Amino acid sequence: MTTDFVLTDTHTHLYSEEFTEDRTAMIQRALDKGVKRLFVPSIDASYTEKMYELEQQFPDHIHLMMGLHPCYVKENYEAELAHVEAELSKRKFAAIGEIGIDLYWDKTTLDIQKIAFQKQIQWAKQYQLPINIHCREAFDEIFEVLELEKSDELFGIFHCFSGTYEQALQAISCNMKLGIGGVVTFKNGKIDQFLHQIDLKHIVLETDAPYLAPVPYRGKRNESAYVALVAEKLSEIYQLPVAEIARITTENSKEVFGF
Ligand SMILES: [Zn+2]
Repeated sequence: MTTDFVLTDTHTHLYSEEFTEDRTAMIQRALDKGVKRLFVPSIDASYTEKMYELEQQFPDHIHLMMGLHPCYVKENYEAELAHVEAELSKRKFAAIGEIGIDLYWDKTTLDIQKIAFQKQIQWAKQYQLPINIHCREAFDEIFEVLELEKSDELFGIFHCFSGTYEQALQAISCNMKLGIGGVVTFKNGKIDQFLHQIDLKHIVLETDAPYLAPVPYRGKRNESAYVALVAEKLSEIYQLPVAEIARITTENSKEVFGF
């Protein structure tokens, strides 16, 4: 099937072990579905080489971020941050991410998670790059840091946005777009209840593949081609053709990433 529109997956872990068996075919399925722009967040230093290989394989479609994921902020976080800083100084990235705070998996690292988040925000400002925020059970803590660092130079995407209407407005007031993925298709996902009140200009699409597959693949492995299902759900919510959802959200992603 060919499509006449371009979809953008603003958050996909293409290097994940989950794709070892069929990685190239999986990426090709996304391209065939019109998902021509794939933005890949970094997790920690162990994946950097794999990310560079993927970029080389699909240079027109795969765009890389650099950053230390909050769940990987551990005792060695200073060495991990030094890696991020070194890579940033070496070459161009699309964004700094994914960065943020996660209190679902580990609350004991909150202090160093905050330090790592703030440090990486400062690098984003220095390199004039957007940030890609990971937030899990940590809205107050995230906004505490964002409000401290708030400025015209700070902008980006609140990845896998799962908060309330009020939190959506607060994120937007911090120059963040809302990354909307499979959760919007879940029956108890909640964001589908208020999304129509949020102007589409604040929305970008994502999968977070291999996690959080949209209905009807909920619970199974997610992949970038399924961003089309997220676009279909938004087409229902906003009462617009899928092609129009694709066009606007791709434009929004260009505004964030600068290309
Ligand atoms: Zn992610």
